[in-house]
Amino acid sequence: MTRNQTQPVSLEEITALAKRRGFVYQTGEIYGGLANSYDYGPLGTELLLTIKNLWWDYFIRRRDDMLGLDSQIMLHPQTWVASGHVDSFTDPLVEDLVTHKRYRADLLIEDYFKKNPQEQLVIADLSTKELADLIDKYQIKSPDGNPLSKAQDFNILFETAIGAVSDKKSRVYLRGETAQGIFTNFKQILNSNRQKLPFGVGQIGKSFRNEITTGQFVFRTLEFEQAEIEYFFDPEQNNWQDLFRDWQNYVWDFVTKVLGIDENNLRWRRHTDQERSHYSQETSDLEYHYPFGWKELCGIAYRTDYDLKKHQEFSQQSLEYTDPQTGKKFLPHVIEPAMGISRIFLMLLCDAYQKDPDRERLLLALKTNLAPFQLAVFPLLKNKQELVDKARDVYQQLRQKYQVAWDDRGNIGKRYLAQDEIGTPFCLTIDFTTLENDTVTIRHRDSAQQERLAISELDNYLASMLA
Ligand code: ATP
Repeated sequence: MTRNQTQPVSLEEITALAKRRGFVYQTGEIYGGLANSYDYGPLGTELLLTIKNLWWDYFIRRRDDMLGLDSQIMLHPQTWVASGHVDSFTDPLVEDLVTHKRYRADLLIEDYFKKNPQEQLVIADLSTKELADLIDKYQIKSPDGNPLSKAQDFNILFETAIGAVSDKKSRVYLRGETAQGIFTNFKQILNSNRQKLPFGVGQIGKSFRNEITTGQFVFRTLEFEQAEIEYFFDPEQNNWQDLFRDWQNYVWDFVTKVLGIDENNLRWRRHTDQERSHYSQETSDLEYHYPFGWKELCGIAYRTDYDLKKHQEFSQQSLEYTDPQTGKKFLPHVIEPAMGISRIFLMLLCDAYQKDPDRERLLLALKTNLAPFQLAVFPLLKNKQELVDKARDVYQQLRQKYQVAWDDRGNIGKRYLAQDEIGTPFCLTIDFTTLENDTVTIRHRDSAQQERLAISELDNYLASMLA
């Protein structure tokens, strides 16, 4: 069973499940909530950790040509001047002149043309001035029906200050992407690791963007985790198109094989020349079919030597690589695969969410390696001490190896339904027969089928099922 077009899931359903079962809560809900900000509850925290561990293992530990890094959230402020973010990290902003709510002009126009298809335009290609002209020409209004201000560039870097004074000298930025920490540490990584090109550096960490658009749950938040790689190479030795394709394939396999996402819900989209970021010569997004449309899950960009060149220029320090064989000195080029952890998280919930009307249940058909709990153990009745003791033994034994949930509330049927909703692949029930012959009932999440198994066989059985 997979999610498909006949079983569409809405963002509201995902949000409700996430809240009800402790995956995601709105930040500061008791104060009315903070826009575009979410906290991860007990199960969400487990899922996030699992995603990051799988990413780290697949992209860093498994490869000879990859190194890890953990740089600061507040980098030297010159970093962002050199990288171009202080000048160009902008979104086109418009304000409702009556309510003063703010919107992204490009997204409002996109919505307008979806409802009124007068012009065939690639909105992402348009400059802020062209967006402003379109709003004028079609008298496009805010979602509340009010006139809009003129579209202007709005820088989405968050500023803060170091120390007691708050002036220009103390100003720093919360990083808008993790990538810059990799570039500014490039020389130290080279000096301390004797790594030969081509090689990559990856890191997972928080980034911050003062996003204007609201209402897309964890897809677009002010604070979010990125998993980014800069893959350095000599453009005279490696063809960038080949490396680009290799990384596309490697990322595709991660998403489809490691995370188990349905290929029908994925597609690559190449950026147009106008749409590409200032630093990129080629960009392709891997898009996922979220409940609100095809949207970017991750991007792969060929950033050339743009960033190293800029940091070399602004720092007046050589960031060149010396080829150990030929002695040639040059600035390496990079391919950058960049993913958002919370976009992976949301994709997993959407892809796994299934309605099973025959059994009147909802289930999260997560791959077994992703489920917050791999197993749940139940005593059939909670007031029969022999059953509880036996179940407790089995539970303690399995916890040595697996993430195991314990539940002794209500009837067994309700406990199954509760585990289905959080994606637990197997439920084990200890009943009176267990006390006679040391067997348990195993119930499978996806088929809802049950079978009986000896406790002595559990270890081998689970090892094969959860591999
Ligand atoms: P978008 O066009 O959706 O704003 P972007 O092109 O600006 O995204 P990148 O700068 O390429 O995004 O960032 C790399 C990755 O970081 C994205 O593919 C996405 O997964 C993630 N990401 C970017 N912005 C956010 C955000 N505000 N909230 C959550 N994840 C984000």
